Amino acid sequence: MRVKRIILSGSLLLLSIALTCAVFYVVKNHQKQSRLIESELKFNANFVSIWLQTAFNHSNFVLTQLSKDLTQDGFAQLALSDNHYQEQAEVFELHYQTLMNAIHVFAVDKECVLLKTKTIGGVDLSSREYCQRLQNNNEEVTSIITAPFKDVLNRNVVVQGVKITDKKGAFAGIVGLLTDFTFFTRALRSAHLSEGSTITILSRDFTVLATSVPRYFPIGETMDFDYVPYQKINGLKYNQELLFDSNKKYNGAYQGVFVKKVSDLPFIILVTKAKNYWFTPLYITIATVFSLILALLFFLMKNAVYFHKLNIKAEHYSKLALFDELTGSCNRRCFENKMSGFIEEYHSRKKVFSIALFDIDYFKKINDTYGHDTGDEVLRLFSQACETVCTPDDHFARLGGDEFVMLLANTNAVDAELRLNCLLNTIRNIEISINEQSVKVTSSIGVTEVNNRIFDSCKLLNKADEALYEAKRLGRNQVSISVIETEH
Ligand code: GH3
Ligand code: MG
Repeated sequence: MRVKRIILSGSLLLLSIALTCAVFYVVKNHQKQSRLIESELKFNANFVSIWLQTAFNHSNFVLTQLSKDLTQDGFAQLALSDNHYQEQAEVFELHYQTLMNAIHVFAVDKECVLLKTKTIGGVDLSSREYCQRLQNNNEEVTSIITAPFKDVLNRNVVVQGVKITDKKGAFAGIVGLLTDFTFFTRALRSAHLSEGSTITILSRDFTVLATSVPRYFPIGETMDFDYVPYQKINGLKYNQELLFDSNKKYNGAYQGVFVKKVSDLPFIILVTKAKNYWFTPLYITIATVFSLILALLFFLMKNAVYFHKLNIKAEHYSKLALFDELTGSCNRRCFENKMSGFIEEYHSRKKVFSIALFDIDYFKKINDTYGHDTGDEVLRLFSQACETVCTPDDHFARLGGDEFVMLLANTNAVDAELRLNCLLNTIRNIEISINEQSVKVTSSIGVTEVNNRIFDSCKLLNKADEALYEAKRLGRNQVSISVIETEH
């Protein structure tokens, strides 16, 4: 019982340890998975950011150089001759070819009128953002990148413009380049998008310049703030980064969104990964918990089998300790324990009982004549015959060899003699036939009764033994009584 309780509580303890391990594993894995996704998003955002910075810083450098050259040439004083146009057009053409973000390089004069190049010229551009900002002498700004707009040829463009000044430092014109959405799409393609990821480049005014999910963020239109809240992406500072969840499902799922402002350039990179990728896949979680529980069950089963075998062995040994192996009856130790209990009860409640000692007559001869196995069979049958006459309160045991003992509860010696004489008849009728010869069995029985002088089982057995000796002496196959004198 105690072992069972220990096994049960041990199993529960192991089960809870296994479940804790499983939960710990799942949580740890989830955190690890989240960190992996976060670095993937950061990597892609940084990659595209660096791409844009390299392109626009380089073009800014080239435009600044060009602006300085033009200042030295006395750009503002140059006569607007065809020759001059031709010269400038060639210079701009050359630069356009070397800048990866330019579809066109152009210049405007101090009135913000477009200088003629190969394609177009003479257009008044003074209403353009770059003209208004750079023409204003009060502003320190010398170069800008605009929000997207449609140029004179109706192309969606962003302009990077650098101020040209005259020798006195006054505004003399602008040299600028046009870049269109295809440049941003190329930048975006340089990112490595894994499954469930998207990437988008936004301008300062949140126009979508390029995206891998045009279905949700159409190119050239303002970002849909239903998906990515305006407050989250507004007012980001130099290289500032932010991680948050999308407001709504897009591209089939809720998204973990990572935004990054591209240094001091007016672009924002928005990289996302579907939320279901941020968790350890369910099948891994289930497999882990399952295998842990299976391992535990296997361990418990093994233990259960081991303890079951141990139990059987224990039962076997405790049987050996209390029962006789040949006949299955109680043995001497078991019987003496019971008899002591009866003696105590006699002294406390005066419940009388008798003890009968049996010894099979001429048993050696049976062994010698028919063999030891037949002798064993006689012992078994003899034991069974005696057990059948026992009441539920009586007890019967084999003391050893061909000697047996019976405790007749609530029976005095005289009544015991009557019952035992009947038993002798039963014993006489035990039938064993070997080679068509029947083996005859008889027994001598010595009886004694408990009384107030008896305090231990030994004395009672000795008295019964005296009676048994008497029965043998008187010719066997009979019951003899020995009475213990009572105290007066
Ligand atoms: P008596 O009438 O005086 O009792 O004569 P007996 O031949 O029965 O003599 P005793 O009771 O001393 O003999 C007991 C014999 O029982 C001796 C021994 O060989 C035999 N015996 C003891 N244990 C076993 C057993 O387990 N199996 C068998 N077959 N024989 C046993
Ligand atoms: Mg005998």
